[in-house]
Amino acid sequence: MLIDDESKIAPSQAGELDCVGAGFAAAPSSLTGMPSATGATADRTPGTSGRSGTLAESPAQPEQPAQALQDPRKAYAAPSYPPSSPQQNPWPGLTSLMDPRPDHGETSYVGSGRLAGRKALITGGDSGIGHAVALAFAREGADICINYLPVEESDAQEVAKQVLAAGRKVVLIPGDIRSESFCEQLVSQAARELGGLDIVVNNAAKQQAQKTILDITTEQFDQTMKTNLYAMFWITKAAVPLMETGACIINTASVVAYETPASLLDYTATKGAIVAFTKSLAKQLAEKGIRVNAVAPGPYWTPLQPSGGQPAEKMPTFGQDTPMGRPGQPGEISPIYVLLASNESSYTTGAVFGSTGAGGGP
Ligand code: NAD
Ligand code: MG
Repeated sequence: MLIDDESKIAPSQAGELDCVGAGFAAAPSSLTGMPSATGATADRTPGTSGRSGTLAESPAQPEQPAQALQDPRKAYAAPSYPPSSPQQNPWPGLTSLMDPRPDHGETSYVGSGRLAGRKALITGGDSGIGHAVALAFAREGADICINYLPVEESDAQEVAKQVLAAGRKVVLIPGDIRSESFCEQLVSQAARELGGLDIVVNNAAKQQAQKTILDITTEQFDQTMKTNLYAMFWITKAAVPLMETGACIINTASVVAYETPASLLDYTATKGAIVAFTKSLAKQLAEKGIRVNAVAPGPYWTPLQPSGGQPAEKMPTFGQDTPMGRPGQPGEISPIYVLLASNESSYTTGAVFGSTGAGGGP
């Protein structure tokens, strides 16, 4: 469906949304010195095309304005509110309920065509890190499909508007990834409506803090495993046959796979498994030329945390125990996903990239 009015955005029962927004023009590959983003099968033989070649063949680089240095400690304030009223939202949380509102890079992320023409599926793409990744990918020239829970529709609509404003296509597919049949349907519908699948970001997660193992019900354990592990397995299994050489998978792990908190037993177990899954799958898929990597965030300011992800009493100082003294904002981690998804990272696979404010991790 070609739309010319953002008010017409609707979930993908209504089908895909074609891009109409203004403000984004994919940089020509000559500008970035990179092979064409659509050239997944382009000849990369040294000296013939791609990034190899002699200095004399290097394309001229455009003049860039100097970037001012910034103090990363003060790039964002630590969120502050009275400890007597820790903000607790009903699961799965909404961006609109957060104060301060997370920064997804809306006013800061500038694309340069690094993912031009790519087609990306992002689970949990409605909010937090997934929102920031969707925005950055779109500004880099990718068409986007996001999955989320139906109750998160308002967040998803906001992401859709931003993807459209970047001039890219957006497909919205709400649904619960704890179901194998839904995961299969999600992947096939995403590939059909986007016209292919080049990047899969397994990012959705369930995180509910509990003091001890005795407080974790079988139901919670099952939900955490289904959302964080089974869905990643089902979605990846459905996606791999549809992915071509040059495609990639990026899984969201966590610092907790390395620095294990006592209060997140079931969640931590899934994040450790995601790291192992990523490294093992990377070995399998190398022969197909498909890269598999993971990102391990430290404390990030997203709806996951104040909706049961952290014990209520920890929210007022969330992230302040890192050496950086504050939590990260989603727009500070999306560049890692862009890097991992882009052609520049062609030798990077089976790796885990941390972004933890020096709070440990890979
Ligand atoms: P978020 O709440 O914004 O995103 C999580 C998303 O998971 C939700 O938006 C929801 O759409 C999705 N989800 C949950 N259950 C689902 C289900 N059954 N079906 C479909 N979708 C479902 O929070 P976030 O922090 O951006 O989380 C993104 C990823 O980052 C997660 O994998 C999380 O574990 C990881 N992570 C976050 C932090 C942090 O501090 N925020 C730290 C380490 C890792
Ligand atoms: Mg959400």
